[in-house]
Amino acid sequence: MSDAITTRVTPGARGAAPLLTYRDEQFTDAVAQATQPMWEQLHGLISDVDWLLKAPLIHRIQRLKKEKRALILAHNYQLPEIAYGVADRVGDSLQLAQYAAALNKDDAPVVVMCGVHFMAETVKVLAPERTVLIPDAAAGCSLAESITGADVRLLKQHYPGAPVVSYVNTSAEVKAESDYCCTSSNAARVVEAAAREFGSPRVIFLPDRYLAANVARQTSVEIIAWHGACMVHERFTPEQIRALRAQFPGVRVLAHPECPPEVCAEADFVGSTSGMIRDVQTSGAAKVVMVTECAMADNVAAENPEVDFVRPCVLCPHMQRITLAKIAAALETLSPQVEVDEKVVHAARRAVERMLAVSAAPASARS
Ligand code: SF4
Repeated sequence: MSDAITTRVTPGARGAAPLLTYRDEQFTDAVAQATQPMWEQLHGLISDVDWLLKAPLIHRIQRLKKEKRALILAHNYQLPEIAYGVADRVGDSLQLAQYAAALNKDDAPVVVMCGVHFMAETVKVLAPERTVLIPDAAAGCSLAESITGADVRLLKQHYPGAPVVSYVNTSAEVKAESDYCCTSSNAARVVEAAAREFGSPRVIFLPDRYLAANVARQTSVEIIAWHGACMVHERFTPEQIRALRAQFPGVRVLAHPECPPEVCAEADFVGSTSGMIRDVQTSGAAKVVMVTECAMADNVAAENPEVDFVRPCVLCPHMQRITLAKIAAALETLSPQVEVDEKVVHAARRAVERMLAVSAAPASARS
């Protein structure tokens, strides 16, 4: 695309709307009763004192959701009080994109994305008629910020004929310049589908250099990688994994493919967030270490109380920008809203829908 394309966000909640403080709300009997089911799941992940402060906000957000007919989507890396306290759906990037794509016109007119900015943009791309809110517009992503649409145009000039596969952790502008989108759970399949469709022996894969290296090990398609990295997953080292194994004999190690390949080589299982959850539920391991963002390990631990979790903790600072107070403020003020240029919506949607079609295809149609 040659036209300049942009996305924008309305003024941030911090500037536009007064943030609620926990002192605004009281822990009344009505709050205690309404939030009891959430407390049963969060018990052990939140202290009693913390709960007295957070339960009134959860209650308030639940009331606001009804009033505004809003849906709350939350990424797996969100804090447990968001995932279990207020979210209607919790999932990885692919699951949240599939959910947004399946919304019909009678579903909630307002969607709150508890995650980072590119995730809110993806919802807007797939459901452009909705008001899409992100509780903190500054919630970015080191991967998404590593590349621009202009960079993709230069890559395409450099490698003519090679299709572009963009990880979902990219801006809508970058998706709009891409032929296919992908997530960590379907990256290898999408790369092969793109190479087949374009009749090309090589694919431009961006922006995560580690995911690119991990995908390259699963396919004969030549991968041309960009140099982005996730600031959380790139911090893990093989030495840390070996030290954990020595300290916890028999522990099952699960790693996210955004980790460096040397870390993945030390793991028993490498997969997306949803793949790791499935592995915890089906492997029968009594002790597990999840080499990924640690709020996710907290959420998986809450659902699998019989499994013992070792949690090397690296938090994503962007994901942690989303708080209950900011969610309440976003619903009160219906801001900040994520807006995506119409031309971008159209082009980015094509790349995301191609990915969803590959994901939905039966195995025999993929090979
Ligand atoms: S964990 Fe990494 S990839 Fe995910 S939002 Fe944070 S910086 Fe981006």
